[in-house]
Amino acid sequence: MKLFNTLTRKKEEFVPLEEGKVKMYVCGPTVYNLIHIGNARPMIVFDTVRRYMEYKGYEVSYVSNFTDVDDKIIKKAIEEGVSAEEISSRYIEECKRDMEGMNVRPATVHPLATQEIDGMIEMIQTLMEKGYAYAAQDGTVYFRVKKFKEYGKLSHKNLDDLQSGFRSLQVSGEEQKEDSLDFVLWKPKKDGEPSWPSPWCDGRPGWHIECSVMSKKYLGEEIDIHAGGEDLVFPHHENEIAQSECCNGKIFARYWMHNAFLNIDNRKMSKSLGNFRTVREISQQYDLQVLRFFMLNAHYRSPLNFSADLMEASKNALERILEGVRRLEDRRKKGVQAELLEEEYLLIKEAENFTVKFEEAMDDDFNTADALAAIFELVKFANTKVTEKSSCAFAENILNQLVKLNNVLGLEVIQKEEILDKEIEALIEERQEARKAKNFARADEIRDELLEKGIILKDTREGVKWKRA
Ligand code: AMP
Ligand code: ZN
Repeated sequence: MKLFNTLTRKKEEFVPLEEGKVKMYVCGPTVYNLIHIGNARPMIVFDTVRRYMEYKGYEVSYVSNFTDVDDKIIKKAIEEGVSAEEISSRYIEECKRDMEGMNVRPATVHPLATQEIDGMIEMIQTLMEKGYAYAAQDGTVYFRVKKFKEYGKLSHKNLDDLQSGFRSLQVSGEEQKEDSLDFVLWKPKKDGEPSWPSPWCDGRPGWHIECSVMSKKYLGEEIDIHAGGEDLVFPHHENEIAQSECCNGKIFARYWMHNAFLNIDNRKMSKSLGNFRTVREISQQYDLQVLRFFMLNAHYRSPLNFSADLMEASKNALERILEGVRRLEDRRKKGVQAELLEEEYLLIKEAENFTVKFEEAMDDDFNTADALAAIFELVKFANTKVTEKSSCAFAENILNQLVKLNNVLGLEVIQKEEILDKEIEALIEERQEARKAKNFARADEIRDELLEKGIILKDTREGVKWKRA
């Protein structure tokens, strides 16, 4: 499997630190508003990377944070007259709802910056002890950029160029820095802002230190992949590298992956242009799987333009896959015989080529556009080769292959059958009977069957309670 590493600007063979395991960190959103479709791009792209890695047999630890302390959150809290925590917890919930709609699986851990302040203070302290950080008179702590000789290695920037750029951009408060390149690790509190005590002053962390600390805590000092949108390369990820590598004395992440930006109608998406779209708005018009399809139909490193026409085209294309699936489901029920016919063995072999093509595309830096093309070829194959003369087993085999490949891309093409409340109650009743008769195997089977349909059982003192997942 090859992936493009921003660090080396090359496609490289993926070799994990530990065999069979992947440790991956994806910078998550700042939660002060509903997420927009730009934020959705890294979520969908890296969720797909995770799914493909799992399909290949890796055990993936996937960490993605929520930045829940930030100027924009505080501003919104003041506007609404509520606490910053109320704003962040509201939009974390909303973000999780949108993620579910887009079939973005929850991360192994979703750490919150505000819950990790102790770790941040500890890392800043270590950086100070090692001479990589210093406190100014007002308690602001800065990172001493020039002391880290490799600064600029990710963004391929040279320190002198950076320096001249910064000189023309001097802002107030900068005079207390030793050097214009130095960035903030800890800043003093302002009135009405959330703050935490620290050895330097009551205050809050800078943005970059959050990710260095959360990545270390949940994945360790060295990780395989660190990812995010391309705007994060500089300064966010460059600064994360500086902090982590100076603190831990180890290479922080082996591979750095960045998605290109999503534009709208060929213009940058921004609030001032008024062309800002939230995922929630899109969900009012489309099943969010259409948005997922639209994103995956482009390479993640190519800029992508969002337009109504392209969304309509994605809707129609996805419908072609769904139609193919429905047809196969139907043929599976109505086959000429249950078992495979003689000539179908060869056809199954032929169909496996589409999986090979799919994997080749994904192995080539996650070329999801080509992977989708392989899926369409399989749909076409199914439409012509699975006919009224086919067996149930053949239809089932092709159906399974199609569903499996779509699942890797996070496209759920099988409509889940809705289970009715009364059917659930009946099964719970049957499970109770089975338990009474000490038929635990049957009782467990019913529990699993319900779980598969998204029903979770809980045995309580007042009897069995159930809920939909
Ligand atoms: P933010 O909440 O701004 O920190 O962004 C969260 C994630 O969304 C980061 O990985 C950003 O790089 C990414 N992102 C923000 N806007 C866009 C966009 N228009 N296109 C693609 N990715 C974006
Ligand atoms: Zn980050």
